[in-house]
Amino acid sequence: QPSSPPIGRFAPSPTGELHLGSLTTALASFCHIKSLGGKWLLRIEDTDTERCDRQFTEQILIDLEVLGLQWDGDVIYQSERIDIYNDYLSSDLLALTYGCQCSRKDLERYWSQQAQASSTTQDLEPLPAGLNATDIKQLLPNRQRYPRCCLNANLNRQQHKLRIQLPDHKIGFSDGIQGLQWDNPQQTLGDMVVRRQDGMINYILAASLDDGLQQVTHIMRGLDILPMTTAQISIMQAANLPAIDHWYHLPLICNPDGQKLSKQNLAQPIDTRDPSKLIADALQLLQQPAVDRDTPTRMLAQAIAQWDNTPLQGKSALNLPNY
Ligand code: GLU
Repeated sequence: QPSSPPIGRFAPSPTGELHLGSLTTALASFCHIKSLGGKWLLRIEDTDTERCDRQFTEQILIDLEVLGLQWDGDVIYQSERIDIYNDYLSSDLLALTYGCQCSRKDLERYWSQQAQASSTTQDLEPLPAGLNATDIKQLLPNRQRYPRCCLNANLNRQQHKLRIQLPDHKIGFSDGIQGLQWDNPQQTLGDMVVRRQDGMINYILAASLDDGLQQVTHIMRGLDILPMTTAQISIMQAANLPAIDHWYHLPLICNPDGQKLSKQNLAQPIDTRDPSKLIADALQLLQQPAVDRDTPTRMLAQAIAQWDNTPLQGKSALNLPNY
């Protein structure tokens, strides 16, 4: 019996308001961790100052409160933690990271030459088992790997973007929804950029470090992030942070024909004027037993008591009903 409670989190990027996809992720991770008697942390992933907006952050906090999705402890803002990430880059992660001066144009030229030379289909690793290949391909449209041109160039770390060396072997993890997963992060992702030349810290680094530093035990998030999970596992290990005990990647929300909702569709903000209806609809989408129409807080209490991952297992998509 572990002495400390399980810890889950919701980690939205405030590049827009909550939409049906992010709402279902919030609701599922909240109900699941609460059903285990755990804590639910809220972390705002706002390192990308060009795409993130304070107004969206405020709206997300208001929406979560209106919906009764009350987080535990203080909200963490990644934009205030840049020094922490940089400290890791110059200590535990120093040996694994290197400066890179390849521009996007350089790489595009390289990749198109490669494609012409091979003229056959790209020599990519097979996708993780149990997933709909087209879904995942859409998620990672640019699976070309960085050819490591700068790996041994010893470029100045402050003046260039930094990449991290990811292992070139398969890493496995057990996913409570998608089943056992194996993937080689070097083949799938290559050496990812962790800090841009302008100093901006990228998602994969900030999220990996924070999940470890916040002692998160259960990560439940969208399937779109599953291809990055072995990279996260590698980075957390290299940073000497405790491993995540339990992974869950939720199916993506699709329209009634089974097509993944387009960005525009998916990005439609939720309408919180009727929060009880929103909770009922999202629970239905998540294939949970119905709850009595009541205040959001009471509906959530019932949803927590009834929470069950089983109907989600093995699914890569959840289809919206024809309203
Ligand atoms: N910030 C990410 C997003 O909004 C979520 C990352 C995560 O849950 O690990 O897509």
